[in-house]
Amino acid sequence: MNNSVPEIGSPARTKAILSRYRLVAKKSLGQNFLSDLNILRNIVNAADVTDNDNVIEIGPGIGALTEQIAKRARKVVAFEIDENLLPVLDETLMDYDNVKVINQDILKANLPAVIKDEFEPGHPVKIVANLPYYITTPILMGVLQSGVSFDEIVVMMQSEVADRLVAEPGTKAYGSLSVVMQYRAHVAVAFDVPRTAFIPQPNVDSAIIRLTPRGPLPVKPYEDQALYKFVKGCFVHRRKTLWNNLQGIFGKQPEVRERIEAVLTDVGISQQLRPERLTLINFIELTNAFHNEGLM
Ligand code: SAM
Repeated sequence: MNNSVPEIGSPARTKAILSRYRLVAKKSLGQNFLSDLNILRNIVNAADVTDNDNVIEIGPGIGALTEQIAKRARKVVAFEIDENLLPVLDETLMDYDNVKVINQDILKANLPAVIKDEFEPGHPVKIVANLPYYITTPILMGVLQSGVSFDEIVVMMQSEVADRLVAEPGTKAYGSLSVVMQYRAHVAVAFDVPRTAFIPQPNVDSAIIRLTPRGPLPVKPYEDQALYKFVKGCFVHRRKTLWNNLQGIFGKQPEVRERIEAVLTDVGISQQLRPERLTLINFIELTNAFHNEGLM
């Protein structure tokens, strides 16, 4: 590596790369390039990346975060949808022979197959990324449902979504996204990132979220998909009571209402509660109880 060239994520180098390739950041692809070396390094620190780790990155952009990961990881596979960035990445990352860029939409990627083909088995697999904000939720849901058990996921997203991911029951930000994510992982904010750290600056502030595998829960849903569907249904009208939402899911016929009432009494949950008061365990117990009652 030529030591006289500043690293990709320094503001001067970012500006030079953008101007050399006449790149105009595409808003439609969520292109905001992080140009603060301390923050970039701290993201890699938050994932505790070592030379034993295989890392998947989503949206390498011009390679600023990729470079910091490549310096520490065993191998990096980065998915970039924008083919205009491929020649840029070829040049900016040419000194790193442990990086492979795949020109593909992450939402269409077959992660288990890529991991099998690209990574030597027996090493931790982590995801580290500054996500394209317009698809944060589908990416995370896709990753968590891919069947791959990641050792660590450290991703940047807009603060408002990060707040929803970590929200506790009874708070305004608590909703189906909080429940589903917290079912799959232990979720925590690692640190906040101001909008001024990007070129161009987005209209919102950001946060780094760390998702780590969670320990076993005291109860398990009879089926993951059933839990997700039930939780979503319960939050359709978050201002209304659970009773109202449950009739939206199962129907309003007197016989159905009687069965809903019986399940709630059995599980010990008041009809008048708002859905945001229910804990993850409440949702799992209710999913199983409605299943046993033959309603789902
Ligand atoms: N990693 C770079 C950084 O930190 O400066 C760029 C991050 S930028 C917020 C998001 C990146 O995701 C862009 O490079 C964009 O082209 C890419 N991207 C957007 N949609 C994508 C998709 N569906 N699949 C893969 N990459 C995508």
